[in-house]
Amino acid sequence: MADDLQHDILIVGGGGAGLRAVIAAAEAHPDLDIAMVSKVYPMRSHTVSAEGGAAAVIKDNDSIEEHIHDTISGADWLADQDAVELFVNEAPREMIQLEHWGCPWSREEDGSVAVRPFGGMRIRRTWYAADKTGFHMLHALFQTSLKHTAVKRYDEWFATRLLVEDGRCQGVIAIEMRTGEVHAIRARSVIMCTGGGGRVFPFTTNAAIKTGDGMAMAYRAGVALKDMEFVQYHPTGLPGTGILITEAARGEGGILVNTEGRRYLEDYNLGEPVPIDDPRHPQLRTMELGPRDKLSQAFMKEQDAGRVFSGEYGTYTHLDVRHLGEQLIMERIPFVRELAKNYAGIDPVHEPIPVRPVVHYMMGGIHTNTDGETSLPGLFAAGECACVSINGANRLGSNSLTELLVFGKRAGLSAAEFAREHPDLDTDGLEAQRADEEASIAARFRTPRDGGERLATIRRELNATMEEGAGVYREESGIRATTEKVGELKERFENVGIDDHSKSFNTELTTAIELGFLLDVGEAVAHSALERTESRGSHQRTDYPDRDDDQFLKHSLAFRTDGAPRIEYADVTITNWPPAERTYGN
Ligand SMILES: Cc1cc2nc3c(=O)[nH]c(=O)nc-3n(C[C@H](O)[C@H](O)[C@H](O)COP(=O)(O)OP(=O)(O)OC[C@H]3O[C@@H](n4cnc5c(N)ncnc54)[C@H](O)[C@@H]3O)c2cc1C
Repeated sequence: MADDLQHDILIVGGGGAGLRAVIAAAEAHPDLDIAMVSKVYPMRSHTVSAEGGAAAVIKDNDSIEEHIHDTISGADWLADQDAVELFVNEAPREMIQLEHWGCPWSREEDGSVAVRPFGGMRIRRTWYAADKTGFHMLHALFQTSLKHTAVKRYDEWFATRLLVEDGRCQGVIAIEMRTGEVHAIRARSVIMCTGGGGRVFPFTTNAAIKTGDGMAMAYRAGVALKDMEFVQYHPTGLPGTGILITEAARGEGGILVNTEGRRYLEDYNLGEPVPIDDPRHPQLRTMELGPRDKLSQAFMKEQDAGRVFSGEYGTYTHLDVRHLGEQLIMERIPFVRELAKNYAGIDPVHEPIPVRPVVHYMMGGIHTNTDGETSLPGLFAAGECACVSINGANRLGSNSLTELLVFGKRAGLSAAEFAREHPDLDTDGLEAQRADEEASIAARFRTPRDGGERLATIRRELNATMEEGAGVYREESGIRATTEKVGELKERFENVGIDDHSKSFNTELTTAIELGFLLDVGEAVAHSALERTESRGSHQRTDYPDRDDDQFLKHSLAFRTDGAPRIEYADVTITNWPPAERTYGN
């Protein structure tokens, strides 16, 4: 069935980045026809679950230079410094704007915006709304977007493929989940804001919807995925579920303890411990607030030394916040208490919380410039699915929420310009692509198959091989085995069969398509990791333990081919901060 769905700008994703892009485009260009597609109702996007906060310079003891420096060194010098400068400079204005749209930032006693310490930052600069920051940010953005009543929303529509015609992105193909119909939504420009893909790993803080869809769609359309080998493990997730215990718990004074009852980070050159009777100590070069990559690596070393606990859901250490007292816990990190009670069965006021490293964030993503442009004309990207790059080899906690605002807005504005300059769309060609996608979905997933592969088996095997070969520590034979396994799984995926052939809200069908996306993301991660024979940030090779700036002060670019991806490299932009050693000890 041919459609007549057409817009000037189409934003795929209703999280923080997508909504910020919508608002920017709608405010600056009220005459343009804007639409947004989201596979879940926008308020259910993963941004809602962010707890700790968003970084921006606001206090007198802080400076733009300090935030830039922390971000670049946190990134182990792999961030593009022009992008970081732009980001840090635009961040405070965006955060104040968000308050004007209704985001209730927590306050100091004198009424000024409160900031908390976060990992890898030498100065407190993380704004927060208790420990439900993402919820409040997304709410403020969503309600502001609703003021632009002309914006058309396709909620619970699932994008499966980019429409590319005449070398230009001209929209997406999407399944309307309520009816199961496959539509072409034509657009003069498209912005991917589809978030990360942590679900490629078994233990993750990421919601089940974070399956790297936008990354895979861009990759399939010939756009490079940049720096995919850099996967962030957050040091404090709950074993079993992977539910995040926010860094704010350590920012407020929580400490990490091993089976011997010791603050084991003392052994890892991460600075002096803050005395535990003084949780608000101003000195921030403290062990528990070291960057996430280093803390996750310390856990693995403790595990090797046999100093971690072992439980039903694997190994863990203790995060102890008892010394903060019930009042501070309830005031600053009430959600941590709620999560620990509900999902670990303990009350952190009286007992330590079991924690382990879990996959949290992908530094890599769709290769864009600072305006969100990709190499495919008409295609833009922002948020976690994009790689600008400000995060380099290791993102600093609380930079991501701010990144959604700064780069969501920039992508919205540049996509609007592009749409104005490129009014023509190839309607017939796009309809042919839609028909082709509909037929392919029907043939692969809507007809019964005997003896087909099971989705769950392939997903489990993918998760296991990613953790085994491309986890916190990596080495050649392990990564190579993972690349081979992912290749095998991709072949087996061609024979996958599903049981549900109904049309309405067929989540088995969308899960199958998501698994296809995950396989592409896993492939890009594993191959990029294999080629980078150095250790930098979150990418730690036991066979190449040193950082090698001569060869690898470079972004990797993974291009899809019919076989293994082709890996190329691009220069990192250095402006005023020459590569230096990354130190956190005093
Ligand atoms: C538990 C948790 C806590 C965090 N805490 C913090 C924090 O305190 N500070 C910080 O800076 N960062 C934090 N992060 C990271 C940060 O929250 C995310 O990186 C960020 O919110 C991602 O926003 P986004 O807009 O890029 O994508 P998301 O919010 O993930 O939204 C993606 C959107 O894309 C849509 N979508 C995806 N695929 C499709 C498809 N195929 N078709 C249609 N729509 C699609 C989804 O429906 C959704 O609307 C946290 C992350 C997690 C998981």
